[in-house]
Amino acid sequence: MTPTVPTVGVLALQGDVREHLAALRAVGAEAVGVRRARELEAVDALVIPGGESTTIDKLLRAFDLVEPVRERLRAGMPAYGSCAGMILLADRLIGAIEGQQTLGGIDMTVRRNAFGRQVDSFETDLDIAGIAGTVHAVFIRAPWVEQVGDAAEVLARVEGGPAAGRIVAVRQGPLLVTSFHPEVTGDTRVHRLFVDIVRESR
Ligand code: GLN
Repeated sequence: MTPTVPTVGVLALQGDVREHLAALRAVGAEAVGVRRARELEAVDALVIPGGESTTIDKLLRAFDLVEPVRERLRAGMPAYGSCAGMILLADRLIGAIEGQQTLGGIDMTVRRNAFGRQVDSFETDLDIAGIAGTVHAVFIRAPWVEQVGDAAEVLARVEGGPAAGRIVAVRQGPLLVTSFHPEVTGDTRVHRLFVDIVRESR
């Protein structure tokens, strides 16, 4: 049997698109930027990058992508969101700006800019369910997950420091989110986990 190469789109409206494209290619996926509904139709899965969730939300609406993406998510398209992408895949938000919407998909409540000022940006090693060894995680004005519903599985929590115990990685079916940015460290294991989810779900 020839292994099929999945095509994974990276939502290319704002944020660290190039880093995700590179990480996806490094783990053997075909990776393409997605900015239009017809580009969305051509992908097996979607990555929503880190960046600024309020800006990505506005651009999703300006590019008429909100309903097409929601429809694909409802139909079971795998998606991975890092940081701002985690915010966009949350069913509920704390700390949203006025009028800010999410795409939704994961039964969880996410708090924006959760790691207060003194830890606006920080790094720590995490144990992540499904990944062998620890992963060095970089958090940049990151959200955390306040609460998850029954269908959502917690994959990682911060171990020490002021944010000890906070949930920073979650999976619900084919949807994966992390508060941190694996795309900036050169460690491709989270992208590999996601591409494995994409392969499984085909
Ligand atoms: N604080 C940003 C937001 O609310 C997310 C930060 C990030 O993606 N690095 O969108």
